[in-house]
Amino acid sequence: MLKTGIFFHYQNGDRLRDFPEALGDVLSRDNVFLYDAFYPLKPASSFDLDAVPIELVTRVHSPRMIDEVRRSGAFEGALLSASGTVAAALRIWNGEIDNAFVFTGYGDHHAGRDFYGGGCYFNGAAIAIQELRSRFAARRFAIIDTDAHHGDGTWDIFENDPGVLYVCFCSGPSREHNNKVNVQLPWRLTDEDYLDLVKKSFHPRVKAFRPEVIFWNWGYDGTRGEYGDLGLSPDLHVRLAEELKGLAGEVCRGRLIVVLCGGSRRDLAPLLIPKVANVLAE
Ligand SMILES: [Zn+2]
Ligand SMILES: [Zn+2]
Repeated sequence: MLKTGIFFHYQNGDRLRDFPEALGDVLSRDNVFLYDAFYPLKPASSFDLDAVPIELVTRVHSPRMIDEVRRSGAFEGALLSASGTVAAALRIWNGEIDNAFVFTGYGDHHAGRDFYGGGCYFNGAAIAIQELRSRFAARRFAIIDTDAHHGDGTWDIFENDPGVLYVCFCSGPSREHNNKVNVQLPWRLTDEDYLDLVKKSFHPRVKAFRPEVIFWNWGYDGTRGEYGDLGLSPDLHVRLAEELKGLAGEVCRGRLIVVLCGGSRRDLAPLLIPKVANVLAE
């Protein structure tokens, strides 16, 4: 059975107010480990409190942009938020866990080399990838982005980097460049259509690319009634999790890091997140 890490380093806003308690039974499994740190509603614990060192951030983002974030008031939170993804990657490489679910407060996919926006300040997955490269000589990474919006930041950072396969599903035009792929979605689609597109556009590329780890930029903002409404049902996310877990099992010994992206509804979070985390652990 795989070992699953849940990284609860920082969150911002209302949607995760019911966590980590809302994870419920997932936390009582023997193969699930909770790594928590600072959380606005409880006293900061000393356990695993490790904001990403600024030297790591400078490998991905420009000094100008880092200074801007420093003055934005979100600097501390952005460092802690990215630290969850970095810690998950390192612990997977150390063999402590096999896969991970990362709660983020300020991240990820709209943060590029020299810009940020849409509530994303630092690109945690990108920082984690550069850290894996420098510490372990890891070479090949895949990122699937099923947030409803285009991951302009992630695309920008890895545009000229053939060692990162990035496949984004959004409303932007379909294009392909240097292992960066955008898959255009119709403005509304069924769960079946969505899953078919993922199986057709992501699976074969990942099998050919053979990444050492798969990052999943998972947003639930495309769910019906959310701000990025694509007409998708809550169920889709669980089915996607099952698909991607199976795929990671085939190509990279189950190494899958789920990075929470968009979605705002507080009622959907406790409905979806425990199910996705449970898929990782079962
Ligand atoms: Zn989004
Ligand atoms: Zn896109």
